[in-house]
Amino acid sequence: MPTADLHVHTRYSDGTETPQRVVEMAVEAGLSAMAITDHDIMDAYEQAAPFAAAQGLELIPGLEMSAGLLGPNGEVDVHMLGLFMDLHHAPFQQRLAEQRTRRIRRTHEMVERLRALGLNISIEEVFAVAGEGAVGRPHVAQVLVTHGYVATPREAFDRYIGNNGPAYVPGTPTAPQEAIRAIREAGGIPVLAHPIYVKNDALIEQWAREGLVGLEVYHSSHTPEVVNRYKKLADRLGLLKTGGSDFHGTSREGVPIGSAPIPYELVEALKAWKAAHPTPAS
Ligand SMILES: [Zn+2]
Ligand SMILES: [Zn+2]
Repeated sequence: MPTADLHVHTRYSDGTETPQRVVEMAVEAGLSAMAITDHDIMDAYEQAAPFAAAQGLELIPGLEMSAGLLGPNGEVDVHMLGLFMDLHHAPFQQRLAEQRTRRIRRTHEMVERLRALGLNISIEEVFAVAGEGAVGRPHVAQVLVTHGYVATPREAFDRYIGNNGPAYVPGTPTAPQEAIRAIREAGGIPVLAHPIYVKNDALIEQWAREGLVGLEVYHSSHTPEVVNRYKKLADRLGLLKTGGSDFHGTSREGVPIGSAPIPYELVEALKAWKAAHPTPAS
């Protein structure tokens, strides 16, 4: 039975592998289709496309858009996948460019605060780790590990740059509703990523009323019980089911491409939705 992985990162965001390499890995894993879903950037697709075509892998253009909201315990990150995106939708690309500018500004500020705390890291090191990708907190965490200030990226978040850390700089998150709207305007299918991190079914219900189309029922961090729960929720709310590994390469061990495979018929359901909802004229 053909399978797909609809959640894969490359080094264009916080993954460690090149677009070419993730295509090879997907082929080695025996997948029929893969979506590259880097954080707030879609540039890996065009690099990967010729390799995918040569190997007979169906490559789906996508991204994982950062959104968020203010909860009782501070900022809550909400990740909205956009699948089957129109890569040439100028207003959406403009929005991503602005988001990257804000990320860069925020990263500068974070490094300043860490330096004020006596942690001697530089912004250049952070950008070097980020490579051509959208710079963010994971890259700052990596530099703190390299310097030996913390043992793991997790510890960097817990002690310094997490939402309650002394070097935390609040972002200006896009509202989830706004991410849903922007993704749909760019021809994409908005899917709530790893709903287990949101832990709030009432919110998912609200977003479903506001245009959310899919739910990432299958994910490498979802146990069989969690998968079952979200399967039922997706059915109840009329959401399409998707899934993926959330592969990041060596920066997240034990999560290979294809580790949360979904049957290809779910991809077909996404395509049917897309065919019935053509990109609105802008
Ligand atoms: Zn995510
Ligand atoms: Zn992800």
